Amino acid sequence: MSLEFNNEEYQNEQTLFVDVILPLPLPLLYTYRVPREFSDKIKQGLRAVVQFGKKRVMTAIIAAVHHNPPKIYEAKYLLDLLDESPTVNSFQFRLFEWMASYYMCTQGEVMNAAIPSGLKLSSESKIQLNPEYSGNYEFAASEQLILDELQKKNLSYNDVMILLGKKAIHPIIKSLLAKGAVILFEELKDKYSPKVISKVRLREEILESKALFEEIFHKLEKKEKQLNILLRYMQLTQVQKDKNNNRLGIAKNILLKEDASASALSTLIKNNIFEEYDQVISRFAENNLKAEQEIKLSGEQLKAKEEILESFKIKDVTLLHGITGSGKTEVYIELIKHALQGGSQVLLLLPEIALTTQIVSRLHKVFGSKMGIYHSKFSDNERVEVWRGIISGKFSFIIGVRSSVFLPFDNLGLVIVDEEHESSYKQYDPTPRYHARDTALMLGRFHHAKVVLGSATPSVESYYQATTGKWGFVKLDKRFGEAQLPEILLVDTLREKKFKTMRHDFSSVLLEDLTLCLDNNEQAILFQNRRGYAPYLNCEECAYIPKCTACSVSLTYHMHSGELRCHYCGFTEKLPQKCDACGATKMKPVGFGTEKLEDDLKLFLPQARVQRMDLDTTRNKNAYQNIIQDFESGKTNVLVGTQMVTKGLDFDKVTFVGIFDADRIIHFPDFRAAERAFQVLSQVSGRAGRRGQKGKVLIQTANTNQNLLHQVIKHDYEGFYQLELAEREKFNYPPFYRIIKITVKDPEKNIAQEFAEAYVKLLAPELGSKRVLGPETPLIDRIRNNYLVDIFIKLEKDKINLTTVKEFLQRHSSNLLQSDKNYRNVHVVFDVDPA
Ligand code: ADP
Ligand code: ZN
Repeated sequence: MSLEFNNEEYQNEQTLFVDVILPLPLPLLYTYRVPREFSDKIKQGLRAVVQFGKKRVMTAIIAAVHHNPPKIYEAKYLLDLLDESPTVNSFQFRLFEWMASYYMCTQGEVMNAAIPSGLKLSSESKIQLNPEYSGNYEFAASEQLILDELQKKNLSYNDVMILLGKKAIHPIIKSLLAKGAVILFEELKDKYSPKVISKVRLREEILESKALFEEIFHKLEKKEKQLNILLRYMQLTQVQKDKNNNRLGIAKNILLKEDASASALSTLIKNNIFEEYDQVISRFAENNLKAEQEIKLSGEQLKAKEEILESFKIKDVTLLHGITGSGKTEVYIELIKHALQGGSQVLLLLPEIALTTQIVSRLHKVFGSKMGIYHSKFSDNERVEVWRGIISGKFSFIIGVRSSVFLPFDNLGLVIVDEEHESSYKQYDPTPRYHARDTALMLGRFHHAKVVLGSATPSVESYYQATTGKWGFVKLDKRFGEAQLPEILLVDTLREKKFKTMRHDFSSVLLEDLTLCLDNNEQAILFQNRRGYAPYLNCEECAYIPKCTACSVSLTYHMHSGELRCHYCGFTEKLPQKCDACGATKMKPVGFGTEKLEDDLKLFLPQARVQRMDLDTTRNKNAYQNIIQDFESGKTNVLVGTQMVTKGLDFDKVTFVGIFDADRIIHFPDFRAAERAFQVLSQVSGRAGRRGQKGKVLIQTANTNQNLLHQVIKHDYEGFYQLELAEREKFNYPPFYRIIKITVKDPEKNIAQEFAEAYVKLLAPELGSKRVLGPETPLIDRIRNNYLVDIFIKLEKDKINLTTVKEFLQRHSSNLLQSDKNYRNVHVVFDVDPA
């Protein structure tokens, strides 16, 4: 970053170099030389086009400008600059650096995740002829060569290099671009193709002259359709009151609503009364934004808001523990308004799935066009628009999924993480394996911003921070309005099985309550955390179970598609007609998933209008939204689903929730199982009775004595927390210890095992054997043809220099990888703070 230099040390003090972050997993930044023509423009944060290795051309981010040539290689010239002003700012650099170091990956990997691909150019970027080219430029021979080839097919940067037999092709392509003869494919597909709407307005001179205006009215007296349009225009825009309104015009489709005639409007345009023009608009619809009538915070909400603002004075982070339906969103809204009024930017993080729903439209109504939405289902175009919109100041408030921590904020005042306990904030794969909540905390720190974490079921770690005084702690323990928390009851499935009152997987009690609910014209949610029809097939003759060929898991039976599917690698095969092992035709589905519940329910309760919501039914962009809408409008009245139905949904008429197979969630072999179970069971229960009517929840279990279930029934978060915390302390888990999970992968089982053992032998003596656990074989020890072995590093929160330990782990891993050619396929994956 420093532009200072030392004349004595460098012979040619004029030469500028840059260190860049390449979108590659390289441990070091790479240095390029800056061509003289760019020396005035060069600065940190610009995107540059560089060549890396023999063939590859890619977009890099300039991280530092200096005068130090690299010591061991000759720096190549960078080929081009893509920006005039920075795409990445200094806050982001700091964050990227922190993430790379904390999550044990490279800055290139962070950058790759951070920057929307619409802002990247790679060797794969395609060049095509510009269909709209109409110039008559002279082309150089090399340019003509490219154009001729483009007549046949689109070319990548690599193709062009091969075609011309040289690497420095960028100036040629740039010249073709400048002449408008070609376009970069990404530019056509993604970059800056803004959304345009067609608008009309009155010709300026008509408004300027009263006489002219009256004349036109007179002329139109007999032309009713045209007159109607003119009157409608005046009414909608109120131009008589304020002439300036005319400049804003009106969208054609709005003017033409209510059977106004399109041909009449065309005539008006033809006769120079109206003019037609295009306006670039944001992709995030701005029309229909009526200012909602003010919502007033309830007494409790107001108190919570005041307490949070109070806690901001002395603490940077505050946990808002607000029960389901307490109206946290309204509290957030007030905090956001407050921060925006103070002139700073605001980020609200939401779990992936919550973003497509009700909360977004609620916030949009309040914040309108200031608000940008950053969602992984959005096109690259939309992501680039948000990125640029933050830089330009158009968006001061962003609501987004985990990757929005990467956005180019330069003045964050407030970060809110809703549903902070959600494990989907953690990215498992690929690197960076980061936790968006923890990253948001760091982001907040860099900006000196305040951070609010909100949840009805806080993570044990956050609750610990809040109740030990490190963070502020605010409670909201009443539901909004008249609503009360639902009544939760357990159903003993063992007993029902004994008395043969179960119908398939439905207990008689559950079916009765569900029937009652539907008879009352109310709605129900059924939760089973397993998709597909049955988790596996089993041959009744020889007990054979079909397994995935690439993973050590059984294949899930999906009835609707007639397939067996691997939920780990996506492998599918047709449903076998007979057992592959013994040939008998007695393959029987065992266990149950959402598909089976849906199917059985249609049989048992024909009056139920069932919709299923899981990964399989929500793959299309709008599927999720449609399911929600159908349920909201009453078209359907039972929603059967996986985790998806537990998150943030807010429906008036849901009075019953049924939970299947809670036991499997509780007994999942992981130290977070109890926490997860408490959260998911409380959250799904929280969907019931969110308005006047008190809701009811039934949990089916084979063991009604479980402590955790009784904590859920009593809405006893505190009780759950105290017991769980004691366990965590006893067995050295977070929040007392930090965990780094190391997974060794290799196509050969014994090599993975051998490597892991050798690695542990290197680590244990230095770290102490109490801190190094394993190697152990995970429950699923083979995925996509790779065998997995886990090692867990447990580190005390204090007394340990984390950075040193991480470097130590990485150094020994790379040394070991190089020590034996048998290890050439081994992959070592570090997961810091696994969720
Ligand atoms: P939470 O996220 O805490 O579970 P929500 O924010 O979804 O709760 O609020 C629950 C319901 O109560 C929503 O339908 C919301 O519109 C309504 N609500 C909350 N606060 C208010 C208020 N002050 N005025 C009117 N309606 C409110
Ligand atoms: Zn598989």
